[in-house]
Parts: sequence; C-alpha cells; structure tokens
Amino acid sequence: MKKILIGTHNKGKFREIAYLLPKKLKKISPSSLGIKSPRETGKSFISNSKLKVKYFSKFVDFPVISDDSGLCIKALKNKPGIYSARLAKKHGSFFKAMKLILKKMEKKKNRKATFVCSLSYRNSNKKITSVEGRIEGNLSKKILGKKGFGYDPIFIPIRKKITFGQMSKIRKIRMDHRFIAFMKLKKKIKI
Ligand code: IMP
Repeated sequence: MKKILIGTHNKGKFREIAYLLPKKLKKISPSSLGIKSPRETGKSFISNSKLKVKYFSKFVDFPVISDDSGLCIKALKNKPGIYSARLAKKHGSFFKAMKLILKKMEKKKNRKATFVCSLSYRNSNKKITSVEGRIEGNLSKKILGKKGFGYDPIFIPIRKKITFGQMSKIRKIRMDHRFIAFMKLKKKIKI
C-alpha cells in the first residue's frame, strides 16, 4: 500500500486531511514515527506550509502533505493569522484564546473573518506544489458548539447561520479552507 505522511501534530487537521486524501493511501502521522514539529519561522501561510513539508520530507522517502492555517480577523488587523496556534498556547487553551478574541471584538462593528489554509505537497520526485484556500465568514458573539477543533466554535461561514463548531464534522470538512485548498491542489497534481 502506498504511503503518505500528513505533516501535522494537530489531530483536527490530521483527521480532515486524511478524509480528503484517496482511500488507497496509508496515512502516516509524524508522531507515529517519533518526529517532532519544526519551528514555524515563515511570515506567511505558504512559507510555513513549505517549510513544514520540506522538514517532514527529511524523515521519509514517500510523499508528504503539510498544512499551515489560521484565522484572520479583519477588525484585529488580520490577527491572529499565522499565530493562531501560538495565541492559544500563550493563553493556555483555545477556549481562553476564543474568550479573549470575543472580548476584543465586543465593541467592533465589523465581525468579518477569514479562515486561511495553505497546503504544500511534496511528491516522491521531490517536487513541491503549494496552494492556498480561504473561506470568508463572521465571528459569532459567543462560543458555540463542541464539534470540530481550534477556533471552530466562533466562526460562522458566509451564508450559514451556525458556527463550524455546531456543524457535523463531515459538513465542515466539505466546505472549509482546507477543502478549498485541497480542491486547488487536485487540479494541479495527481495525488
Ligand atoms: P498551525 O498551522 O500549526 O500554525 O496551526 C493553525 C491553527 O489555526 C490551529 O491550531 C487552529 O487553532 C487554527 N485553525 C486552523 N484551521 C482551523 C480549522 O479548520 N478550525 C479551527 N481552527 C483552525
């Protein structure tokens, strides 16, 4: 069976990427091989997803896919953006980071936000392909829903009335920024 390394330690991302990939591929996690994460020194989603795919590829001789993603909030100058995971780490949990964001947003009229995902794929011939997917939406007023992961409970995608955290996992996986990025990737290359 052909293998692919899904270069992330985030269980939510791993589950989503694994769902999108062809069934015939055996999905390997970095933790199952005892591989740690690299330091994210890039200044954009694309540079970080490339940095991750290059790093994880050092450990295996089969294809690797990596993601860098985050939530960009218009009224907060597109923060936390590439620092989304680090914000939660700094404050102790995603719940605390979401509470902090909602507090900062209390007096803001514009609640527009965008989830961004860059995916980078490195094939067995060492060729790297990178794409970016985005989904627009608005921040909810409260933390709503227990499904999904990360900032899902405060993001209401455009034209929907509920947060990602309230949606079934499959419904979210089939519309989010990772899905949009993956569709772009599939148009460019054969996985
Ligand atoms: P990084 O790509 O490892 O820097 O982490 C991105 C962070 O952005 C994740 O830890 C989540 O907090 C957040 N994030 C990215 N995609 C999603 C999503 O689909 N739902 C909720 N949070 C997300």
